[in-house]
Amino acid sequence: MSNVKRRTIVGRHTVRHRVFEVERIEWKHTDGLSFDVYDTATGALLTEESFDDEPCVTDIEDLLDRLADELDAGRLDPWFFDQPKPRTILRGWNGAYGRCRCCGLEAGPDYHLAGAVPPGENGVVCDQCWDERLR
Ligand SMILES: [Zn+2]
Repeated sequence: MSNVKRRTIVGRHTVRHRVFEVERIEWKHTDGLSFDVYDTATGALLTEESFDDEPCVTDIEDLLDRLADELDAGRLDPWFFDQPKPRTILRGWNGAYGRCRCCGLEAGPDYHLAGAVPPGENGVVCDQCWDERLR
């Protein structure tokens, strides 16, 4: 049984070239509100802990930075996060490792280098796209 009275999308923000939706949750037995943040393209819920107040663009940026740190440290809760989704979302802008030659997203710390790539071409392949045949 759910204690949720109503869910409403109250905001839509573009942060680092991605669109995020803010959902307000009203509860049945309290006046308190909760706010969750979704990545619109994948539908991924990013707030393991909801905000108590409606998050602004800066709050969403902070949230993304926090998630990126947790992802790199391998600390994202696998029961809560569907791992490939935050990976895709966060690597679109986190610029440290170069972009994957296959999907064009940021490759991340577990990237691979493809063999048989002509000199001067990008050989970086992200772990998602990696296939032993690329070796
Ligand atoms: Zn890729």
